[in-house]
Amino acid sequence: MYSDLKPSFSFLILLFLCLQPLIFSLSTDASPPPTVCIVGSGIGGSSVAHFLRHYFHPSPSQPTPPNIKIFERSYVVGGRMATVSIGGESFEAGASILHPKNYHALNYSNLLGLKVKPPPASEDDDSMSLGIWDGKKFVFKTLQVDSKFPLVQKIVSYVNSFRIFFRYGFSLLKMGSFVESTVDSFLKYYESPERRPIFETVDEMLKWAGLYNLTTQTLQDELIGIKLSPLLIKELVTVITRINYGQSVYISGLAGAVSLAGSGGGLWSVDGGNWQMASGLINSSDVSLHLNEEIESISYLGEYYELNSTKRNSYSCEVAVVATPLDEVNIRFSPAVSIPERKLQHTHATFVRGLLNPFSSNLMKMIQLTKYFLEDQCQMHYWIAFLVQGCRQTE
Ligand SMILES: Cc1cc2nc3c(=O)[nH]c(=O)nc-3n(C[C@H](O)[C@H](O)[C@H](O)COP(=O)(O)OP(=O)(O)OC[C@H]3O[C@@H](n4cnc5c(N)ncnc54)[C@H](O)[C@@H]3O)c2cc1C
Repeated sequence: MYSDLKPSFSFLILLFLCLQPLIFSLSTDASPPPTVCIVGSGIGGSSVAHFLRHYFHPSPSQPTPPNIKIFERSYVVGGRMATVSIGGESFEAGASILHPKNYHALNYSNLLGLKVKPPPASEDDDSMSLGIWDGKKFVFKTLQVDSKFPLVQKIVSYVNSFRIFFRYGFSLLKMGSFVESTVDSFLKYYESPERRPIFETVDEMLKWAGLYNLTTQTLQDELIGIKLSPLLIKELVTVITRINYGQSVYISGLAGAVSLAGSGGGLWSVDGGNWQMASGLINSSDVSLHLNEEIESISYLGEYYELNSTKRNSYSCEVAVVATPLDEVNIRFSPAVSIPERKLQHTHATFVRGLLNPFSSNLMKMIQLTKYFLEDQCQMHYWIAFLVQGCRQTE
């Protein structure tokens, strides 16, 4: 038996040696798929994974798609799109509202079949409720008439529009067009990759879209520059920046414009939490996900990057993407990467649970106040419990 096999075994070796050049030439033509390592599973990291899959088209030199690995130091995906549970209810703790012109987010929700939360009831009718409270009393209040007759509602709505116009003149319109033109500048980033350059710095990116100048002065100066009424700045703009970013009108014009854009109509969110966009993109992008794995160093070793995690694991990747906020990144880069120092303001979302005292004489005032102030703000991220109760009361 053994001697019968011997010639055929030698033949196989001979055949292998003869074919070896061909086998090697085939394997060098089609290079093995690269590995792409993404640090961070927020909407940035998950979008990178999605677009890598989306834009990959097999070619003779690259027939197989890249292997994608995502590293996330937390035990959940989504990053700053997160929910917290308080008293058995879940609330958005980070990105809570999405702008109607956030086309990526819209496309993701359609693609992933996510349910969009219906807008608050106050957006369904065209009446505008507005009350301005100076800490002691209402300095301005629109009319509220509880009538089911559409004609009465229309008349009330016209009267309210007239009263608002009388108070602020054309300033509301000017504010609207300021916000609209800023949002339109952002839309330039949706241009096709062929028309959009690769940016080396954030400043370059802002200059290209015409947004850089907004970073050179405060929101207040910006609004005074377009001749907005000081009353509107004091009474409305200040409230909006306070609610959205916990800051005054002295924030940068760009941050301020984003804040104002986040107070308009048509804002939306994903039912059950916006983080589902990140998790859906990751699930549908054939990714190997490493949760609870913090990357502590990234070294470029000639042809590949070596990523080391706090779990003492080491990964080699042809491409490394850092999709985390750079000002907070604690990764050691080799060679060192220069991260320009930026003066940033940290905001904190505070969640406090409390109960209303039904015997308080201020309760009715409070409910009235929340009805005016909070109808449109119920999905905002700065919650304190009595305001939460206020929102529920008005639902
Ligand atoms: C309180 C708050 C409210 C906001 N409200 C809105 C809003 O209403 N609408 C809106 O559009 N935007 C809002 N934003 C902004 C929005 O949340 C962020 O712009 C967006 O979520 C950032 O996504 P990202 O992927 O770039 O970063 P992140 O979401 O921060 O993701 C980065 C991920 O990287 C992980 N990570 C960091 N370092 C490492 C490491 N070394 N190794 C492994 N993993 C690491 C982090 O754990 C995190 O999961 C809000 C932000 C905050 C904080």
